[in-house]
Amino acid sequence: MTEWTVLCEYCGALEQLDHAGWRCPRCGAAWAITGSDRLDPARLSPSERSLWRYEQVLPVTREDAVSLGEGMTPLILGKLSGHPVWFKLDFLLPTGSFKDRGAALLVSYLRRLGYRRLVVDSSGNAAAALAGYCAAAGLSCDVFAPAATSPAKLAQARAYGAQVTLVEGSREQVAAAAQHAATTDPAAAYASHNWHPVFVEGTKTWLLEVWEQLGGHFPAACFLPVGGGSLLVGAWRACQALAGPYPALVAAQPRACAPLVEALERDAAEVMPVVPAPTVAEGARIAAPPRGRQMLAAIRGSGGWAEAIEDDLLIDTLRQLCRQGLYIEPTAALGAAAFLQALTHRRPLPEGEVVIVLTGSGLKTGSHGLE
Ligand SMILES: [Zn+2]
Repeated sequence: MTEWTVLCEYCGALEQLDHAGWRCPRCGAAWAITGSDRLDPARLSPSERSLWRYEQVLPVTREDAVSLGEGMTPLILGKLSGHPVWFKLDFLLPTGSFKDRGAALLVSYLRRLGYRRLVVDSSGNAAAALAGYCAAAGLSCDVFAPAATSPAKLAQARAYGAQVTLVEGSREQVAAAAQHAATTDPAAAYASHNWHPVFVEGTKTWLLEVWEQLGGHFPAACFLPVGGGSLLVGAWRACQALAGPYPALVAAQPRACAPLVEALERDAAEVMPVVPAPTVAEGARIAAPPRGRQMLAAIRGSGGWAEAIEDDLLIDTLRQLCRQGLYIEPTAALGAAAFLQALTHRRPLPEGEVVIVLTGSGLKTGSHGLE
């Protein structure tokens, strides 16, 4: 029996992972998770063609899994401005974004603890992913979203049967409303993709898959969109599961909301909140990411860096991707744009394979004037 624990990196609080607590009760910081952290590739089941093939390093067993067949997305060879790169097609997951990896784990985990209703705050892919997996699990789902959210973005969550509540005010006020709703019902849990450590244990599987798909090694560098940071922090968790050399993890944020880039430029110990400006990369518009320290540790530990991307470059990149048959949303083009920007700025790139994660489908957001 594996012992999974959650650790607060701020105050040192340590607890067993056996409850729905989503942050440290002593100081309010995000939990980091540890448990069965080493993957034995010889014990992988060849017949399990989903992320549950990594059950040995997941905090939920296959037996308790709510699954829509998530994981093992294609890794294909493509080009960016003539340079060969690998694209990881996570926009092909069941609800159309990489968030299904975290949602599958978190919904399975909270269902196993006995919760019947999950409360979520999001206006985009996370709401769709968590609502979809709640539907598959037979759980109720409440989505709290900013009042200004366009109805089209919530249509998918509503179609899965989620109850949507619009909240006036800031993103923080929306989160507070969701947290309050979860505390007033003993059958409910706050299932936050930006806070809950079990969510990250799902998102780490994208890089475990890449390791297998490249024949049992990591690439030299990975370029990925970063908002709340679950893809990035998950990637660093995947590195801990296997032997190095590890890939340089390169975080891409919209210039309009780049708290991680700013923290690295200042060589800071914390990621400080920013005041976000408008951007087409709305999925990465997270002004105060709770996992700031874990994001910094992933970048520094892997020898990576971060790029701030202007919307003009993002749309140009989106066009390059679409013209290769890859129909994704603007946020999902951030990693590819960061690769192109690194080339333009003559950043010294590590020798070897480059993997770019394409995180969300374009079918939800329209064509952004590219037609
Ligand atoms: Zn603490």
